[in-house]
Amino acid sequence: MPATAKSLPPEKPAQPAAPGTGPSPVQRALRKLGLVRDIDFALYLPMRYEDETRIVRLADTCDGDLAQIEAVVTESEVVFRPRRQLIVTVDDGSDTCQLRFFNFYPSQQKQLAVGARVRVRGEVRGGFVGRQMMHPNVKAAGTELPQALTPVYSTIAGLPQPVLRREVRSGLARAALDETVPAACAPDGAWELRRALHFLHYPAPDVAMATLEDHSHPAWQRLKADELLAQQLSQLQARRARSAQRAPMLQAVASKDSLGEALRAVLPFALTGAQQRVVEEIARDLAREVPMHRLLQGDVGSGKTVVAALAAARCIDAGYQCALMAPTEILAAQHFGKLVGWLDPLLAERGLRVAWLTGSQKKKERDAMSAAAENGEAALVIGTHAVISEKVRFRRLALAIIDEQHRFGVAQRLALRGKAGGQLEPHLLMMSATPIPRTLAMSYYADLDVSTLDELPPGRTPIVTKLVAEHRRDEVVDRIRVQLEQGRQVYWVCPLIEESEAVDLRNATETRDELASALGDQVGVGLLHSRMPTAEKQAVMESFTANRLQVLVSTTVIEVGVDVPNASLMVIEHAERFGLSQLHQLRGRVGRGAAASACVLLYAPNEGGRVGEAARARLKAMAETSDGFEIARRDLGIRGPGEFLGARQSGAPLLRFADLSTDLLLLDWARALAPRMLDRHPELAERHVDRWLGSKAEYLKA
Ligand code: ADP
Ligand code: MG
Repeated sequence: MPATAKSLPPEKPAQPAAPGTGPSPVQRALRKLGLVRDIDFALYLPMRYEDETRIVRLADTCDGDLAQIEAVVTESEVVFRPRRQLIVTVDDGSDTCQLRFFNFYPSQQKQLAVGARVRVRGEVRGGFVGRQMMHPNVKAAGTELPQALTPVYSTIAGLPQPVLRREVRSGLARAALDETVPAACAPDGAWELRRALHFLHYPAPDVAMATLEDHSHPAWQRLKADELLAQQLSQLQARRARSAQRAPMLQAVASKDSLGEALRAVLPFALTGAQQRVVEEIARDLAREVPMHRLLQGDVGSGKTVVAALAAARCIDAGYQCALMAPTEILAAQHFGKLVGWLDPLLAERGLRVAWLTGSQKKKERDAMSAAAENGEAALVIGTHAVISEKVRFRRLALAIIDEQHRFGVAQRLALRGKAGGQLEPHLLMMSATPIPRTLAMSYYADLDVSTLDELPPGRTPIVTKLVAEHRRDEVVDRIRVQLEQGRQVYWVCPLIEESEAVDLRNATETRDELASALGDQVGVGLLHSRMPTAEKQAVMESFTANRLQVLVSTTVIEVGVDVPNASLMVIEHAERFGLSQLHQLRGRVGRGAAASACVLLYAPNEGGRVGEAARARLKAMAETSDGFEIARRDLGIRGPGEFLGARQSGAPLLRFADLSTDLLLLDWARALAPRMLDRHPELAERHVDRWLGSKAEYLKA
């Protein structure tokens, strides 16, 4: 643990704070940056460098150069016009330069007294009064020049750069940097870790700066390789740890009276080939005694719900319970509505039922549902994450299905554990409409098996997407009229103004009123927003589903998953403010029936008459493709993997150094090495993971 920086000379090992004294402000700031262990400091790499290794002649500098000179102060005065400032002239024998300081301490003024020899570093500006430097860095002249470039680290308030620099230097000196990658296995041309880290903190002045900036330098290669290896190792460890766990084996019931067969018989459609295949993949997993850990990805509307229902039926047929969770109540309610319709009559014949559980339920009702889960009568429990709250006990939970899994945190997934009873773990099926590009699947989700619904149910007509500038809003209202005349329904999604729910609400209310008066009395225009009580939300959703409301104005609470096949037009206002996958999800709310559907993306250029570059790329992608996989690929390109995954939501530690779009070769290397290393050098593997992921590794094993 690093001690206060001020009390210690830089190279001495830091001491833990004395007992009884809390962490100092510096320690707290360091901790905020994740700098706790020596290795954390060593792996905290500079964001850029400054060159203090050379003294240049003033006469050789040009406008804009970052230069270090040594010179004698020839004039020094404080002037008060136009504002108080210290103006100093220095002369290095080749030329003179004027230094200006607006906020300065008396000590600086003393340091810059006439006759002093100083070392000055700053940006040279060639003003018409001659050379100038604003607020340069000043030291006494004559001290030894450093041999390496000076690192500049990203820092936060309360942690001045020089303090952080000292802390990193001593952390790096203390850190054990022994090799954890067996020498014979290191990637070609990569440096040793110790050499790489020392170099990246203190590069030789003659380094080709571009190779540090684009991370192509062999020192960088080494770090990226190590990082990817740690990630692969930890995922593999998690997978192996899981294979040691036991889950209930859910064998197929041959009987024609099985719930699964009965469900297939009542479905109003035949399964697509893709659904059939995925149902079988899942069934195979469920029949094994190793807990399933499967991601079902399929574009919006690809029919994941019925796959989930069939998995649930398999589980119930085997005499166990199933839980299905969705991130929002509306979405959970939709699932509930659909599954109750399909399954409840069939379950009733068997003395079982579907139960509904959410946080907003009345206590009495919730207690009744919990009791049904506990005594096993509730064969299927559907709800929000209230389903896995500690209070809810299951008699024999064997399968947990999580819809839109990327919105569930790791902690919530962990909470599922221990719900199967005894030593058993439930099987886990996660569903996502945001397909994961292959590179991400190979790295972040190496621990998951993936099933893909790559086929939409038949009879869908493709959604036509139109970009329309805000000033043509009236034409959009005309379009709505046309849809309504054909008996269709319409979604209108209001702009996303994240800072203020109140403003969102006002906008949505205004839009509803505006549409209601434009469309006339015969048209029901409903409003749905996040602040409404749940019961009211559900009432509005039900009215829309039953076509008592024809237009639904909504803030983004019409989350993923809402299913009203008669809706054929979706208008998204200020589409430029939405993320790409969000737009794609929203668009997926239409095109669910046989009617030709359209999505209008209303966008408003800013004052300059323009839409930002990333926003333009998103809108363009939406207009050009409706393939979720292609959208995901483009999204990754626009945002990069970090944002794509949403670090906080996924709980996956993001790569700090490696970049999956450029480091595929290193990823391949890490993927190949990880299993061999776990088999042949398990203790090295352990140390390697600990070094890179530390406490996060435990988290990952979840
Ligand atoms: P998502 O994958 O987005 O969750 P849903 O499960 O909500 O998709 O399915 C979208 C719509 O397609 C629903 O109305 C559902 O009943 C319907 N559907 C699902 N599978 C089929 C199929 N094989 N044939 C026809 N319609 C289907
Ligand atoms: Mg769905």
